[in-house]
Amino acid sequence: MSRIVYLNGEFLDENEAKVSIFDRGFLMADGVYEVTSVINGKLIDFDGHAVRLERSMKELMMDSAISKENLLEVHRQLIVQNNLNEGMIYLQITRGSPNDRDFVFPDPKEVKPTIVLFTQSNSNMVQNPKAKIGMKVVSIPDERWGRRDIKTVQLLYPSMGKMIAKSQGADDAWMVEDGMVTEGTSNNAYIVKDDSIITRELSNDILHGITRAAVLRFANEAQMTVEERNFSIEEAKNADEAFITSASTFVMPVVNIDGVDVGTGKPGKIAARLREIYLEETLKTAI
Ligand code: PMP
Repeated sequence: MSRIVYLNGEFLDENEAKVSIFDRGFLMADGVYEVTSVINGKLIDFDGHAVRLERSMKELMMDSAISKENLLEVHRQLIVQNNLNEGMIYLQITRGSPNDRDFVFPDPKEVKPTIVLFTQSNSNMVQNPKAKIGMKVVSIPDERWGRRDIKTVQLLYPSMGKMIAKSQGADDAWMVEDGMVTEGTSNNAYIVKDDSIITRELSNDILHGITRAAVLRFANEAQMTVEERNFSIEEAKNADEAFITSASTFVMPVVNIDGVDVGTGKPGKIAARLREIYLEETLKTAI
């Protein structure tokens, strides 16, 4: 069944939605994106995603393309028109199509951004079987650019990272820079040692995960110990537990790193508890 998608102010059948070959998203990866999850037909952490989108655009000197209210309305319409109960809404905004190729940014007064949103249905997000068995990750060098805090569509290296993981029988890759873990290819990385939750501090080196912010807030509220600091892959292999967070996986245990079992090699108690708390709390504020 074909989806109804959103393109530049219009709701269209997915087969009718077309973007120019000169679009800077296509030619230069000159675009930003967000992924917001939907549970029971409601948006999780919409506000956080909208705020981060604005920030990404500002950092790239892109004109604000759509108001937060409008954006919320488009998300809602897509949920209704596609009858989406559980899944994600993907949003991408590029610097638009100047009808030619040039490294210089086009004048934003003349070239409007391209705005695309579409739904992805996935009835297995909450009841994801991986949450019960945990994920395997492999480590790879972090070879991305230096502004990973901006959520751009330059996803080739993360995509290659997933392929490397897959080729080694793992589920994902954790990226390592100067001996320290930065993050997963599409998620933030954590370890647990002696009941302390350890995750890299925010900087330009990692994406400021919306799920990360929520999970750390809930962990603090539950009186858990949180340490925001760098950790090495060796420290991770010797940890009691490991896990990741992202909008689409929520909190997901990691049970094996580079072939070495983490802790017992089974999902840890703290990761399981955080997943439970995250789903419970976040659903209360879903809109
Ligand atoms: N880091 C990277 C590199 C990501 O791509 C993502 C997911 N887009 C995250 C972290 C997690 O961010 P969020 O919790 O906002 O989905």
